[in-house]
Amino acid sequence: MDRIFLSPPHMSGKEQQYISEVFESNYIAPLGEFVNRFESSICNCTGTKHALALSCATAGLHLALCVLGVENGDYVLASSFTFIGSVNAILYQNAKPIFVDSDESWNISPKLLKEAIQKSPRKPKALIITHLYGQLCKLDEIITICKEEGIFLIEDAAESLGASYQGKQSGTFGDMGVYSFNGNKILTTSGGGMLVSDNEEWVAKAQFLSTQAKENFLHYEHKEVGYNYRMSNILAAIGVAQMEVLDERVNRRREIFDLYQKVLGTYEEIQFMPEIEGSRGNRWLSTLTLKKTDPKKIITVLEEANIESRPLWKPMHMQPLFSDAMAIEDGTSQTFFEQGICLPSGSSMSDEDVMRVCDAIKKAIK
Ligand SMILES: *Cc1c(COP(=O)(O)O)cnc(C)c1O
Repeated sequence: MDRIFLSPPHMSGKEQQYISEVFESNYIAPLGEFVNRFESSICNCTGTKHALALSCATAGLHLALCVLGVENGDYVLASSFTFIGSVNAILYQNAKPIFVDSDESWNISPKLLKEAIQKSPRKPKALIITHLYGQLCKLDEIITICKEEGIFLIEDAAESLGASYQGKQSGTFGDMGVYSFNGNKILTTSGGGMLVSDNEEWVAKAQFLSTQAKENFLHYEHKEVGYNYRMSNILAAIGVAQMEVLDERVNRRREIFDLYQKVLGTYEEIQFMPEIEGSRGNRWLSTLTLKKTDPKKIITVLEEANIESRPLWKPMHMQPLFSDAMAIEDGTSQTFFEQGICLPSGSSMSDEDVMRVCDAIKKAIK
């Protein structure tokens, strides 16, 4: 039996043609027409005013913190239930993370967010929220809290490209947002990221910092520390081709989720990740929790059937790296972590593949 992967790349078929165009132009460089086209396609598709193509989303989050003035000793709030790439940049800036637990939405709890702000030793400068597995956070409440408290909102939309809330795209609600095009995301350039914002000045500043903070002189003049974070024109060519099929990819991932839910939702102990009212997630990964069966057992049985699956993200407040960090947590994401798994969710999966996964899970539960 062929291996079923968790979330493998799914090419549109146009990628090689666009890469050939890059080679013909000889712009094998971190600039060029396809970088511009990739940024424009993100602006058109998400409705953001400005976009900056980068080597990865982690770089985008780092630049967002730099541009918003987060520095040594500042506090930054963040979703605890997320992937490390979401929060590493807080440490790059020598700032201090305060992790906030999830609620029943699986995403950051607005109630615990308020508590975290009250308990913070100093006013936090920014909040990084993750739209986990492509499902939206409770944006209305979070935006209101950030406005009232004067805290910058950064959306880690690495997993949620194409997801929307009341018709507006994830990543465009905060002061700045970030998408990822890593190999396992809904679209991929093998590796890449995009920083977005409606604030032209901030994106211009991020671009300056992403190209070694080179001042505008013919000779090389530098006053600030910079980074080398721009995206290659070759990878941007892949990105342009991928953006052309974003809607199809979201629709297929949602279909796969619906099929899992139809077949496995009848089991009393199984609960799927919810979708909050008014939102349309991209169902990047189909995820569920089990009340009785140990998810490690499911993962083993799936592996025996040559199917890849994974535990849910281990919350940041449980990571040894952050053992000294402040956290407002009530056990919610820890329970999700202990009871949950991510199922194969690639948009290239057939219905038969999904059924193969379901059959193996049924066997493991019995
Ligand atoms: C993948 C991911 C990132 C990191 O993206 P890169 O492009 O690999 O840097 C950050 N946050 C979340 C939630 C992710 O899933």
